[in-house]
Amino acid sequence: MMKVAVIGGGAAGLCAARYLSAKPSLFQATVYEQSDQVGGTWVYRDDVGTDKYGQPIHSSMYSRLRTNLPKEVMLFPDLPIVEGDKTSFIKHSEVLQYLNRYVTTFDLHKCIQLLTRVESVKPVTKSGKTTWEVTARSAVDPDSSPSVNQFDAVMVCNGQYAVPNWPIIPGLETFTGKVIHSHDYRHPEHFQGQTVVLLGAGNSGVDISLDLHVHAKRVYLSHLHPPVQGVLPGNMQQVSGIKAVRGSSVDFSDGRSVEADALILCTGYLYNFPFLTPECEVTVDRKRVSPLYKHVIHTKFPSLSFVGLVWRVCPFLLMSCQVRFVISALEERMTLPSKEEMDADTQKDYDYRCKVLKMPHHYAHKLGDMQWEYCKELLRLANVDEDDATKPIFEELYVDCAHWRNEDPLNYKNRRYELTGI
Ligand SMILES: Cc1cc2nc3c(=O)[nH]c(=O)nc-3n(C[C@H](O)[C@H](O)[C@H](O)COP(=O)(O)OP(=O)(O)OC[C@H]3O[C@@H](n4cnc5c(N)ncnc54)[C@H](O)[C@@H]3O)c2cc1C
Repeated sequence: MMKVAVIGGGAAGLCAARYLSAKPSLFQATVYEQSDQVGGTWVYRDDVGTDKYGQPIHSSMYSRLRTNLPKEVMLFPDLPIVEGDKTSFIKHSEVLQYLNRYVTTFDLHKCIQLLTRVESVKPVTKSGKTTWEVTARSAVDPDSSPSVNQFDAVMVCNGQYAVPNWPIIPGLETFTGKVIHSHDYRHPEHFQGQTVVLLGAGNSGVDISLDLHVHAKRVYLSHLHPPVQGVLPGNMQQVSGIKAVRGSSVDFSDGRSVEADALILCTGYLYNFPFLTPECEVTVDRKRVSPLYKHVIHTKFPSLSFVGLVWRVCPFLLMSCQVRFVISALEERMTLPSKEEMDADTQKDYDYRCKVLKMPHHYAHKLGDMQWEYCKELLRLANVDEDDATKPIFEELYVDCAHWRNEDPLNYKNRRYELTGI
């Protein structure tokens, strides 16, 4: 029997618990969740800043968010969705409802410890075998005594969208309007009649611009990417990157300036593992976490793994493959290559993507189109036969959705997909 600590009760941690608890004779899972409920980023909080226990708000959801992937391709392969039956792009509350049903269906409550924050994870190596000392404490009472437990393995599932990446913008401190990171965006009504500049045109930048435009007077989407295609609202314009801020003026790199009431920084998030002690030998270099084999398994300590670091993917499907990959290694159904071979594999993949595909160096865990091959590879290496997460129809649907998201950003969420004959 292996004792496995799972850090985080969002989609990734619940998925880990589901597959671990399916093998009760092999694994005993403990899911540590710092919040008072499971669901992670899908637990919408109206507040920003800190919660009632004085802890930073984890979720980046906004009040009217609907998913940017159709539910038909977004959710776990082994639990169909009943929520949001009439639409493909469901509300955040329906995703949370779905995750709660996942917990009930697979009877996961018994292994989840709510309001318990992991404070430190430390490897303990004796006679060549590494175990893990996990220290956790009540999230409600920071003065309570910590609990210290030993585990055979640790799965880190703490999410990647909770710690904002604040860009350096000359003069930002002089801005007379309101500045927030997209992590703290909640209601479009707060920007009624205002001129708003959003920096960054990733998923959040575009989605928040479209959420805002109904209430704002003018919306400027500032970014360095090729222009977002399709018809955008009449009061919305795309502009180049921000060069500097002076009082109420925002200067763009193409020489233009606007007077703005608010600035929303949609500049992404940072990976953050405050609980990993230096002995874990994990490094985060901008957006690259090392040393990880296939973006998941620590090459020096293979019993330490990370689920959900990759991005620009279908997260739930992909997590289900990563979790099965980790479990297969833990139960030794898959023999891992040597540390040197795993490091070489990671470097080769990284070099290929940087040199041949011209990927920026800090995009180490961005997969995009490569996610389907990646999932197949994980399941093949893990000796898992089911192809439940890698059906060709999922890729087709994902590509179709991406096409319409670019072509018609304002209306693509009105499309309705139906998967038949699978
Ligand atoms: C605004 C926004 C919109 C999104 N839209 C979509 C979408 O439409 N479709 C889609 O598929 N994905 C979307 N995503 C991606 C989404 O993050 C993933 O779908 C998925 O929910 C990530 O799950 P996770 O478990 O990795 O992380 P999270 O959901 O962030 O869960 C991590 C959990 O770990 C807990 N935790 C952290 N540290 C500790 C600790 N020290 N001790 C104990 N517990 C801890 C947190 O409280 C949290 O519950 C969106 C993300 C954001 C931010």
